[in-house]
Amino acid sequence: MTEDRTNIVAVGHKDHGKSTLIGRLLHDTGSLPTNEMPDSLTGSSEATVDLAHLTDHLSEERRGGLTIDTTQAFIRKGDKIIVLVDVPGHKRFLGNMLTGACQAEDGLLVLDVTEGVQDQTMRHLSLLALVGISRASVAINKMDLTGFDESAYRQASEVVGRLFQDKGIRLMSCVPISAMYGDNVVTRSARTPWYEGPSLFDSLSTQASRSTASFPFRFSVQGTYELKGQQLALGRVEVGQVVANSDALCLPSAVNVRLGRLRKFEEDLSVALPGSAIAVQVEGDKAVERGDVLCDPANPAVATSKVGARVFWLGKTPLQKNAKYTLCCTTQEIEATVTRIRRRINSSTLDVLETDAESVPYAEIGNIELETDRPVVLDCFSSVPPLGRLVLEDEHTVVGAGIVTDT
Ligand code: GDP
Repeated sequence: MTEDRTNIVAVGHKDHGKSTLIGRLLHDTGSLPTNEMPDSLTGSSEATVDLAHLTDHLSEERRGGLTIDTTQAFIRKGDKIIVLVDVPGHKRFLGNMLTGACQAEDGLLVLDVTEGVQDQTMRHLSLLALVGISRASVAINKMDLTGFDESAYRQASEVVGRLFQDKGIRLMSCVPISAMYGDNVVTRSARTPWYEGPSLFDSLSTQASRSTASFPFRFSVQGTYELKGQQLALGRVEVGQVVANSDALCLPSAVNVRLGRLRKFEEDLSVALPGSAIAVQVEGDKAVERGDVLCDPANPAVATSKVGARVFWLGKTPLQKNAKYTLCCTTQEIEATVTRIRRRINSSTLDVLETDAESVPYAEIGNIELETDRPVVLDCFSSVPPLGRLVLEDEHTVVGAGIVTDT
């Protein structure tokens, strides 16, 4: 059995209601184990308690060596699973947001209808666009404060529509909600008779069915173990579909391997879709290790030590030519030297400020060339987006994030 699942990064100006919305989604879909629900919430969708604190109970996760904490809220209803990638409020800053965005395929912007678009909203959208999130939904929140006024919703959604167009992000849906009271979050509300679209959950889960499954597959190996003489690789299907009993190319070693059974918990799968964490039986002599990427042999990724990238710089000290950073892509962490800064770019206007620069300061973009100490496995962002994103770290701190432009 396969699941219909997608990763969505939630962004929004502070206090626009992101945490409350995530709490509401978890609550109204019954995605939380009951023992994690406060008494005041069980049985009442009209509850006005602080839903935001529900998300505080969720475990923070370290993923693939990215040292920034993000929270993943698993929201389930029927066979649909939405993974909302969020950044805990007290730690919310650009680096976290970028790291969150690098784990997601789609975006969700939460906007307070009474406050509208803020400077920070624009910055968030630029950053989403930079890491290749090309589509997003919008939750126009706190509609209760306007008495569910249609014109307030229309006004906000028009501004958002123009903004998305400017940033080149496709607006998937714009849903008038009250995270606090649950209107249009999981079920349609009678208080917005003028709104004919789907609830936010339905809209996000439809958005989710865009298939990263149609790409050639990439399976990133997070660890391996042996069971009864069989080699099992544990990891995540980053993109494409992994099929049981099929051939694969293991990179960077470029050794052909045969995949046997696919296991998820106790279940055998015939096919695993993007986002699934599974164990794959790898037959043959090749010892697969953490950091390896198993690829579609007909259309594999690239194993290279030269990478061209466009990165948004977040480091307190500027990115320097000839400096060394840790390049992180999927589960790989590889030392890399900046050999050239082709261009330094203003992140708001996208104007080129300098060619062949020596450094890139905080909050600017650099088109750079990197040389890695050993081959890294990746794709150009334009061909296979999930394998075309990277993060740069310095001393275990995220200092840059962006996309692979050429190899
Ligand atoms: P975040 O910073 O975006 O995570 O915002 P929070 O979820 O912490 O919400 C900020 C404040 O707005 C809190 O006081 C919430 O109770 C309130 N809030 C959130 N959603 C709604 C809503 O739909 N209606 C109203 N009236 N208040 C809301």
